[in-house]
Amino acid sequence: MSTLSGVAVSPGRARGPVARVAEAAGEPPRAPAPADRDAEAARIAPAAEAVAARLDALAAAAHGEAADILLTTAAMAKDPALAGEAERLVTAEGVPAPRAVFDAAAGFSRSLTAAGGYLAERVRDIQDVRDRIVAELLGVAPPGVPQLSTPSVLVARDLAPADTAGLDPATVLALVTEQGGPTSHTAILARALGIPAVVAVRGLLDLGAEALLVDGDAGTVEPADPRAPVVTASRRAAEWNGTGATADGHRVAILGNIGSVADARAAVSAGAHGAGLFRTEFCYLDAPAEPSVDEQRAAYAAVLEPFAGTPVVVRTLDAGADKPLPFLAPEPEPNPALGVRGLRVAYDRPEVLDRQLDAIAAAAADTGAVVSVMAPMVATAAEAAWFAERARAAGIGRAGVMIEVPAAALAAREILEVTDFVSVGTNDLAQYTFAADRQLGAVAALNDPGQPALLRLIALVGEAARAAGKPAGVCGEAAADPRLARVLVGLGMTSLSMNAAAIAPVGAALTATTLAECEAAARLALAGG
Ligand code: PEP
Ligand code: MG
Repeated sequence: MSTLSGVAVSPGRARGPVARVAEAAGEPPRAPAPADRDAEAARIAPAAEAVAARLDALAAAAHGEAADILLTTAAMAKDPALAGEAERLVTAEGVPAPRAVFDAAAGFSRSLTAAGGYLAERVRDIQDVRDRIVAELLGVAPPGVPQLSTPSVLVARDLAPADTAGLDPATVLALVTEQGGPTSHTAILARALGIPAVVAVRGLLDLGAEALLVDGDAGTVEPADPRAPVVTASRRAAEWNGTGATADGHRVAILGNIGSVADARAAVSAGAHGAGLFRTEFCYLDAPAEPSVDEQRAAYAAVLEPFAGTPVVVRTLDAGADKPLPFLAPEPEPNPALGVRGLRVAYDRPEVLDRQLDAIAAAAADTGAVVSVMAPMVATAAEAAWFAERARAAGIGRAGVMIEVPAAALAAREILEVTDFVSVGTNDLAQYTFAADRQLGAVAALNDPGQPALLRLIALVGEAARAAGKPAGVCGEAAADPRLARVLVGLGMTSLSMNAAAIAPVGAALTATTLAECEAAARLALAGG
């Protein structure tokens, strides 16, 4: 059997049995109407009971929060109101059972959303129960990440960031997807969790292997003997003395990219000098309603707490494209990556941004972290000025923006006149420079941030920062690559922010190189060498 190649996105090797992520069946059809409505309606309660029994069994085998969630979901599946309404739709309106369950759940979801608060947060659970009962009625596997009873290699066509964020590294040995790009948020989350991952593996879903050997460094996947013992081998940590400087003493802050309490702790224990990117939207990928200021304050404070006394750049919500937040959903758009995402969401709804800024300011005061804020998806200096003014009005002294749209790189000088710092998001900057969707495996090569065209844009940012005497960092995935990190420093970047696992290798690479060598590497890379 053959070895398949994809794009390596999270290092480490693992071998183990395959667990497939089943795909959602979609909206069940309304037709044909059942010939025997009573018999069709009678299928619903047993399907709901079977789902509840399976969830109860999984809860019994699970622990802690996972067990609680499973028990809550099982209780929802047992709720006679959902089955009762679905049965009514079958008998009164002749709707097929799977569609009746789908429609009944939609009614419940609407009522919960309207009730707001805690109840609105249960909408996702209702949808989960709905999908499980529909799958049971259709005789197919329930969609989503399966509950794993043994450590397994997770295989999927693609995985949403919300699903990836919930993966447990104790049971997910590795993650392999047929689609997906190297800088997609699924890849970023896999790296943060330390789960070896390979994406864009063509032919993966047709492989049919019971077990796989996954190499997250080489980007390969090969069938393995299902009887062989499970193995995991992570990359050995590089030796780094913790200094954020080149060999000749040129200072470069080595920072962590974080999105959760676990990330924050991992970054601090890896020796990060602070955090250069706190992706606040990662706290709310599943939230159906806008969290209150108090809820946000508590969530941010928990993440900031390990950074007391050190700098943290908190990015305001970057909703949209592959990170949709239900409570900030725009009107349907033909090209979401080019639509109302990031800071653009705030132009229509500035009160959401203001509430978040208030919560960030309060969390900073609670924890003693030295907090700055930064806006995503800024295209012009006017947008940057608008954001900085609101941040200062909320009492946050330092405000910057991300440079992740080519126009912003070209306007870096003007942007730095109205902000305190900038941070280059190479993931989006590459996507928009090369017109190549970062989520699409087929164009993964175009998203390589080492290409001269992208580096020339970063060089403009470096020159503008030097001229303004203000810091410019990189918080895209390029900063996590030790070879590129040198080039970025040579282009004038003053900080590099990355996932915890990359901190020691990047820090060590810099301490082994002089600034002159970094500049020479940058000149070579700009010329395509
Ligand atoms: C980026 O675009 O490089 C970035 C850091 O932001 P995100 O990956 O969250 O879009
Ligand atoms: Mg981005």
